[in-house]
Amino acid sequence: MAATTPLELDGAVKRYEGASGTVTALDGVDFRVGSNEFVCLFGPSGSGKSTMLNVLGLLDSLTDGTLRLDGEDVTTLSIEERTEVRREYLGFVFQDYHLVPTLTAVENVELPTVFDGRAERERARELLDRVGLGDRLDHKPPELSGGQCQRVAIARSLINRPSVLLADEPTGNLDRETGKVILDEFQRISDAGVSVVVVTHDPLVSDYADRRLDLVDGELG
Ligand code: ADP
Repeated sequence: MAATTPLELDGAVKRYEGASGTVTALDGVDFRVGSNEFVCLFGPSGSGKSTMLNVLGLLDSLTDGTLRLDGEDVTTLSIEERTEVRREYLGFVFQDYHLVPTLTAVENVELPTVFDGRAERERARELLDRVGLGDRLDHKPPELSGGQCQRVAIARSLINRPSVLLADEPTGNLDRETGKVILDEFQRISDAGVSVVVVTHDPLVSDYADRRLDLVDGELG
C-alpha cells in the first residue's frame, strides 16, 4: 500500500469578495509535501502566502479545491472539527514566537497538553532538551534570546506529535547565525518524519530546504 501524503492541496482556489470586487488570492494551487520533506514557499507581498498558510492551517476555508491531511479530506469541516484536526495534525511556528511571557520555557511547551487536560511535562522537558535548551527549562521568555525563544516555540509546536509543521517567517526576527540554528532544527525535524513548510522572505531558508516553491499572483511556479 502506498504511504499517505501528510499534506495535499489539489486545485486550491481562494477568492475574497470585497466592496471593490473579487480578489483571487489562490488560483488553482496543487501542492504536496511528503514526510521527511522540508519545503519553503517564497513570494512577494500580495502573492497569497498568508492565504496559503491560513488554508493549510485550517484557519480559512477554500472557495474550491481539496485539502487532505494524512489522506483525510479536511476541506469542509465545522469549527470544532477544525480545532480538533489542528491539534492532531499540525504544529505552528511564528515570526514573533507567540510564547506566554509569564510562563517558563517548560510550561510554554507543555501548555497545549495542559489545555487538553493531560499535562505532558516530561515530554516538554525532552523536547526542550532535543532543541538544546535542557539547561533553560525554568527560564521565562524575557530571560531568553530571540533564537532561544524560537527554539522553545519549535519544541511547543511538536508537543502533540504533528504530521506537519507550518512556520510563518520563523527567521524573520533573528540574525543570520541564529537563523541557521533554527533552520538546522527544521532539517532535523523533517528528517525525523515531520513535514515542514516554511513561508518566508529569507533567502537563507532555501539553502536548508529540500524544495523551494514560488508563489506569484496566487499561482505556484
Ligand atoms: P501575502 O501573504 O503573500 O502578502 P495575502 O495572502 O495576504 O498575500 O494576499 C493575497 C491577495 O488577497 C492580496 O491581493 C490581498 O489583498 C488579498 N486578500 C487577502 N486577505 C483578504 C481579505 N480578507 N479580504 C480581501 N482580500 C484579501
